[in-house]
Amino acid sequence: MDLGLRDRVALITGGSAGIGLATARLLLAEGARVAICARGAERLAAAAAELRALPGARVFAQPCDVLDPAQVQAFVAATVAELGRLDVLVCNAGRSRMQRFQETTDAEWREELELKFFGLLHPLRAALPHLQASGQGAVVVVNAVLARQPEPHLAATSAARAGLLNLTRTLATELAPRVRVNSVLLGTIESEQWRRRYREAQPGIPEEAWIAQLAAERHIPLGRFGKPEEVAAAIAFLASRQASFITGATLDVAGGVQRYV
Ligand code: NDP
Repeated sequence: MDLGLRDRVALITGGSAGIGLATARLLLAEGARVAICARGAERLAAAAAELRALPGARVFAQPCDVLDPAQVQAFVAATVAELGRLDVLVCNAGRSRMQRFQETTDAEWREELELKFFGLLHPLRAALPHLQASGQGAVVVVNAVLARQPEPHLAATSAARAGLLNLTRTLATELAPRVRVNSVLLGTIESEQWRRRYREAQPGIPEEAWIAQLAAERHIPLGRFGKPEEVAAAIAFLASRQASFITGATLDVAGGVQRYV
């Protein structure tokens, strides 16, 4: 299936690791040009070097915090200057907050809501004129099953993700027909976040065994965590010409852990 992404330009926030980096690899393999950002300059430079080593890859990378609108404007402008256009925006930068309601301060609530909303709003504002001019403009928002299925140990993250999903649906209507807006709703995906949690938890068993134990505890029907590459495939599809009549939709990439119908 030709995704029709050849020579299109995709900007991926949080592209230095995990799902963002896997998405960059896949879109490059599909012939797109790719821009990535992250806050940490060193890891971003290493990711960009890895991507540029792929055959024919055109990659632009610039440190940028998605919560700083001036940095985001500058990154988007530099992407268009370097790569010539902008067709696809993947809002992926972020993390989740493992805290129950009674452990979460007001400041932490504000931080969580800011990250989930402005992680989309800032990049979208800056990218929108280019996406509208593209003729194939697409936004893919990386969200989670939590948006529909809240978990008590992720109280603020679940609420913020529900708000983000609601906003995404509004945007799909407002930005049609020139720009499509869709979401992937993730279950648990192996990535740097989980490697960090493994180091912090110090469970005294190998990482692979710890992950398998968590997958069993969470009753994931497919019996494991997802891989970043499996999320990347869903993102690439929603960003592609093959999804040209799909907007305002969600695609669960969760191994069946979602219980809603
Ligand atoms: P990783 O921690 O592996 O990667 C996160 C990326 O985002 C890094 O490149 C990081 O770089 C960047 N980033 C984080 N905050 C910012 C910021 N403010 N501005 C710019 N870049 C930022 O995470 P994953 O790949 O696992 O997660 C990707 C997305 O998927 C996140 O939004 C996460 O919440 C979501 N998700 C992940 C799930 C999972 O199980 N892995 C489940 C559900 C949702 P740096 O720190 O240097 O800025």
